[in-house]
Amino acid sequence: MGRKRARRKKLAMKIGRERINILMNLAEKASISGESDLARRYVFIAKRVAMRIQEPLPWYYKRQTCKECHAFLIPGNNARVRITGNKGNAHVAVSCLECGNIARYHYHRDGKQEKI
Ligand SMILES: [Zn+2]
Repeated sequence: MGRKRARRKKLAMKIGRERINILMNLAEKASISGESDLARRYVFIAKRVAMRIQEPLPWYYKRQTCKECHAFLIPGNNARVRITGNKGNAHVAVSCLECGNIARYHYHRDGKQEKI
């Protein structure tokens, strides 16, 4: 019985991840075409799906969304990205131009970034 339950949970997670991908793609398209309210709605739903499957959003999606207003951030459009600090201790600062929130991340050489 326990095993069956585990399988169902795994399936729910798989479906959840797929939904998140679809929603984030839609959010990106909406944001590019200037429909930031629509993009925000997609991001909000994606975050809710992540919560339901009890898994955080992948780091690359987190970096693209504003924690405060759920905007889908596109550098040069509604976000500004700056790299601060020096070698070995570089930080990436992503400013949301929609609400002014600034998120900082550790910058790793492999491209992975984690929230400070
Ligand atoms: Zn924002």
